[in-house]
Amino acid sequence: MWSQRAYVDFTLKKRATLSALFRGLSSATDACDADPYLRRAAKFHGERADRKCPVCKGEKMVELRYTFGDQLGQYSGRLKSLQELDEMQSEFGEFRVYVVEVCNECGWNHISSSYLLGDGVTRKPPRKQRTIEDEVG
Ligand SMILES: [Zn+2]
Repeated sequence: MWSQRAYVDFTLKKRATLSALFRGLSSATDACDADPYLRRAAKFHGERADRKCPVCKGEKMVELRYTFGDQLGQYSGRLKSLQELDEMQSEFGEFRVYVVEVCNECGWNHISSSYLLGDGVTRKPPRKQRTIEDEVG
């Protein structure tokens, strides 16, 4: 990602969660509480993480990347692939990416990092497109 900036590493917070887990303060079911939506997204859209799951040591850890930003308009909050992000960084001035790691074996999930992408040129959000929800609702 050529335009990556304002990188926030959540490793410390993750360590805190993990040590609490291993000290027995929170049960494994609390920490591994990926909701069905997140688990489904991880199964079909996740991109393989280059590290093992910190809880079960499994190798089926994936990363999901969610995008947020005013300039994304109604598309803020969408899940994007690395390839899509690569295209988006030239199409939008600024948006934030949250990387969530999810284990497809035990369900462990946590934000692992966050950063800004974009070419720095401020644009108006795209015009709202009519969606099927508008037709129905
Ligand atoms: Zn796991």
